[in-house]
Amino acid sequence: MNKIGVLTSGGDSPGMNAAIRAVVRCGIEAGLEVWGIERGYEGLLDGELRQMDRSSVGDILHRGGTILKTARSERFMEARWIDKAAEMLATFGIGGLVVIGGDGSLRGGLELAQRGIRVMGLPGTIDNDLHYTDFTIGFDTAVSTVLEAISKIRDTSSSHDRTTVIEVMGRRCGDIALYAALAGGAESVLVPEMPEDINMVCRKIIEGSNRGKLHSIIIKAEGTGTPATELTRLIEERTGKETRLVVLSYLQRGGSPTLNDRMLATLCAAKAVELLAEEGQEAESKAIGIVDGHIMAYELGAALEVKRAFRRELYELINVLSK
Ligand code: ATP
Repeated sequence: MNKIGVLTSGGDSPGMNAAIRAVVRCGIEAGLEVWGIERGYEGLLDGELRQMDRSSVGDILHRGGTILKTARSERFMEARWIDKAAEMLATFGIGGLVVIGGDGSLRGGLELAQRGIRVMGLPGTIDNDLHYTDFTIGFDTAVSTVLEAISKIRDTSSSHDRTTVIEVMGRRCGDIALYAALAGGAESVLVPEMPEDINMVCRKIIEGSNRGKLHSIIIKAEGTGTPATELTRLIEERTGKETRLVVLSYLQRGGSPTLNDRMLATLCAAKAVELLAEEGQEAESKAIGIVDGHIMAYELGAALEVKRAFRRELYELINVLSK
């Protein structure tokens, strides 16, 4: 193989640029031609490919977002369009592809793998919802952004003796909420993996207030039962305390990647290129991630079936620490 492609797909995440940079530079070092594909699978179908050189990825390591742009592609969900995407890669002579994205993007990669492309999947999503890896690229930065917001909100909410509900991203996976609540000292956390108990949230606010606490921070993942505005209203009604809602939304997607995300992106990308440059690998397509501090490569299809248990001990610790 002498030509590889790289694309970013799905929601963007901080660290995607660091991964692209390492794919391009490690690829060239290994004697490969590296082609950047714009706008994920959508751009692949439209033939938006360009050859990358070392300088094309200069000055991007520290930048959030993705220079290759990203997209969600409806077309690519259909078999005939996936066939077309595989043909497009063959037309360009590209036999190996690095896909940087979340669960959906890597499932798309698996489809291409089944059509003879050698795919390396990198976990690029802030959600931390790819279970074969302990962490995904962008998660650490997103949680850091939430922590910064918590500090600022705490300053103002303690001045006003107020409760604040902070809604963070996470439709099915509550990890952003869980880690931010633990590291940010929130009073309660609501995650999709655990039953919602609004009375318990209210009880904790009242007990805290009776002990002289000036403020309460409640972190809510977006995927939990009661919508945020309704939850905020119920808490105010049941506790009698002024309660405000802050929805962090896309703020969590932006920003310069943290050390952890730069390292994870760079090391996963280097591993992907190392595997693509090696001939005759037994399991051709892989998902790359980090487990117990080590960069690991797993067979792509098997990796996407892994189900990690919810970290209940962290959830319980939040309740202990906020008493
Ligand atoms: P994030 O969760 O961070 O938004 P993601 O990669 O999970 O990232 P999706 O929108 O689920 O985001 O997927 C991105 C794209 O991958 C889709 O628009 C589609 O083109 C492709 N894709 C998703 N699921 C599949 C699938 N099962 N088969 C083929 N392609 C898929």
